Amino acid sequence: MLEIKNLCANVDGKPILKGLNLSIEKGEIHALMGPNGAGKSTLAKILAGHPAYEVTSGEVWFKGQDLLAMDPEERARTGLFMSFQYPLEIAGVTNRQFLEAAMKAQGKEGKIDEKMEELEIRAEFLDRNINEGFSGGEKKRNEILQMALFDPDLAILDETDSGLDIDAMRIVAKGVNAMRRGDNALLIITHYQRLLDYIRPDFVHVLADGAIVRTGGPELALELEEKGYA
Ligand code: ADP
Ligand code: MG
Repeated sequence: MLEIKNLCANVDGKPILKGLNLSIEKGEIHALMGPNGAGKSTLAKILAGHPAYEVTSGEVWFKGQDLLAMDPEERARTGLFMSFQYPLEIAGVTNRQFLEAAMKAQGKEGKIDEKMEELEIRAEFLDRNINEGFSGGEKKRNEILQMALFDPDLAILDETDSGLDIDAMRIVAKGVNAMRRGDNALLIITHYQRLLDYIRPDFVHVLADGAIVRTGGPELALELEEKGYA
């Protein structure tokens, strides 16, 4: 599904990713962990197509297509979903307008009201501007709602370094676990192992200084929690 080969990237002319390799197959949940500043969010932004991040070498294949050659909209249409660490607030566009337009553009049909109920999101959210004045937990629920409705083949969630509160974590886990199928996959970027008590990964990777330095099973996350990244 996703194949990252020897990816190197610069931010502001400074090398941040230095030969990153990662392969994600259908049906798998991968967790990417690592110390602050390791390049986790940089990887997420590159996969989303953020213009400030310059790929200097390497390849990224998504469903057999050259991801780096696609614009961000094409990536979404091909089945990639990205939830950012700091979701944007968009004035003048309501959640309902955004969700309906985005679903239409992606050819998705889903019951917004049903999903909202499932994710314990109050109906009034639909008519508020996207993320405007939302608390951290509300933004996160909103992102998980988008994910549930777009029903992507690969979802990448970049979690806050300060950690989600228990409620937000439960909602993220509920959304993720409800959309799990044998033919989709998830990459969850998280600084803390706590979230992985709710979403059990098949593989845990450690990103340090721009490359994956260790890979293991769920037990690796527990070990990191106990011993740190050193
Ligand atoms: P992580 O998510 O693993 O904590 P990041 O990918 O956010 O790490 O950051 C990796 C490095 O890249 C850090 O040294 C950070 O300061 C730098 N960096 C990331 N984004 C930018 C940016 N937009 N401008 C300048 N430096 C950046
Ligand atoms: Mg980050």
